[in-house]
Amino acid sequence: MSELLFPAAPTPTVAVEGLTARFPVRRIFCVGRNFADHAKEMGAEVDREAPFFFMKDALSIVPSGGSIPYPPGTSNFHHEMEFVVAIGAPAWQVPVERAMDVVFGYAAGLDMTRRDLQFEARAKQRPWDFGKNFEKAAVIGPIVPAAAFGEIGARRITLAVDGVTKQDGRLSDLVWSVAELISHLSRYYPLEPGDLIYTGTPAGVGPVTPGAVLTGAIDGLPPLTLTVAAPEAA
Ligand code: MN
Repeated sequence: MSELLFPAAPTPTVAVEGLTARFPVRRIFCVGRNFADHAKEMGAEVDREAPFFFMKDALSIVPSGGSIPYPPGTSNFHHEMEFVVAIGAPAWQVPVERAMDVVFGYAAGLDMTRRDLQFEARAKQRPWDFGKNFEKAAVIGPIVPAAAFGEIGARRITLAVDGVTKQDGRLSDLVWSVAELISHLSRYYPLEPGDLIYTGTPAGVGPVTPGAVLTGAIDGLPPLTLTVAAPEAA
């Protein structure tokens, strides 16, 4: 291989429960409006024709337990608690019935959002990147292997800010199931090990400010914690 001009960016990785080996992150797909009650609070309807997605850069991954600076360019920084699927095998054009075979495991995550920038982009029919894809915008807890986790079922998903519960949903209320999301994505992208899918947030999203402590929980997964710190100095 040719010499590099400067060191390549390190591959972000996620801890795996029960293993010393870590999960290297390749791409991050995020589903929009996958809980009807959240779509409603965003002033939108669920699209019953097909799920829709946006992406975050792998470099936006930040582990649970850390702190993230209040990001630049926003005055409305929101939490979105989400169930995350970690892909562990190639998936290309997979039918729904076989989609779960490519799941490596699951994690609790936060799709942190500059809501004002997302809404501005939405109003102008522009891409959501500035609202969704920025430094440390994809928070994730340790991955639990699928065999240890078991069926997804109607597990509870919650998020509290400073001890006050803000989001409280059930994974059985996902509009598009994990199998349907994987099957749909695999018709447009050859999914590969290392890809993550953030599956959407239940109602109750809201703003956080410096000093806020976020705690997320999904039955059967390690809890998620995050502290919002002061903005980074120039
Ligand atoms: Mn989201």
